[in-house]
Amino acid sequence: MRLVLVGPPGAGKGTQAAQMAKRLDVPHISTGDLFRANLKGETELGLEAKRYMDAGNLVPDEVTVAMVRDRLGDADTSTGFILDGFPRTTSQAESLAQILKDKGLALDAVVEFEVDDEVVVQRLLGRGRSDDNEDVIRNRQQVYRDETSPLLRYYSDRLVKVDAVGDVDEITERVFTALDNRGS
Ligand code: ADP
Repeated sequence: MRLVLVGPPGAGKGTQAAQMAKRLDVPHISTGDLFRANLKGETELGLEAKRYMDAGNLVPDEVTVAMVRDRLGDADTSTGFILDGFPRTTSQAESLAQILKDKGLALDAVVEFEVDDEVVVQRLLGRGRSDDNEDVIRNRQQVYRDETSPLLRYYSDRLVKVDAVGDVDEITERVFTALDNRGS
């Protein structure tokens, strides 16, 4: 199964991606986690990404796409993957389509996590990551509305919507039910 998860910051994509990856036995690929690992390791990529992440802005597509292309070249993705936080722009989605096409592959579905802005601000402030202060969160929400939400139209033929408010396990069940009911 090749899936993309889309949703505003704080929608719980990372939590759901981890559960789904375990159940589907495919890798969970989070661009946010990849950037944070690079930051921690003080790689050139990490240093480049830092100023964008600190401000809640998107890391330039060129850098992000190269990192994902690289990751999708790893053998563990041969049975599928769950992409969490990528693509985040229509241009990234076009790059992803090309990367997959070159391998003769395509996405099976795109899962959209639906949640209200005010609910997520409270969740994120409780999480305490360094880019989780209110101004940066509000900027990430604005970036989501401006740059990421157009993706939902781009993926309209494969979009599966899930209500992301509720108990973690319950939401996971909603995701799998929605995936099972796809196209019916
Ligand atoms: P959240 O979903 O809470 O915003 P992430 O961990 O997914 O958190 O992302 C944190 C930061 O990493 C983003 O604000 C952005 O700077 C950077 N980032 C992650 N994914 C991408 C992407 N696909 N394109 C550009 N920047 C990204």
